[in-house]
Amino acid sequence: MDCLFCKIVAGEIPSEKIFENDKVFGFKDISPMAPIHVLFVHKEHTANISELSETQSGQLQDVFKGITQWAQEQNLDEGGFRIVTNQGVDAGQTVFHTHFHVLAGKKLGRFG
Ligand code: AMP
Ligand code: ZN
Repeated sequence: MDCLFCKIVAGEIPSEKIFENDKVFGFKDISPMAPIHVLFVHKEHTANISELSETQSGQLQDVFKGITQWAQEQNLDEGGFRIVTNQGVDAGQTVFHTHFHVLAGKKLGRFG
């Protein structure tokens, strides 16, 4: 499958890895929108959050466990962090492997 994030998970395209377990992979966003901006994906491909919810809803638990474990290790609990997923054109989705942006490191503005 010609998927950028599957290739990153497989190590075929380089990334700055920040988290990995048997199910979940986390890496720095190449174009950060905050001092801390990382992406978390499940290693098994789905295109977006709708497909994930219909066919692989257990992945949500895996990914959110990974994110919160990493956030605790980074001591982000107190200052806080934001989790965002974009689906489709209006949300600006550009990579069609479900991913969760995690933003932190400054006081974040409200949503558009
Ligand atoms: P989205 O617009 O929600 O689909 O987010 C895709 C994100 O992937 C964007 O924030 C991009 O900056 C990021 N991105 C694209 N290519 C790479 C890459 N090779 N390594 C890390 N992040 C990437
Ligand atoms: Zn993929």
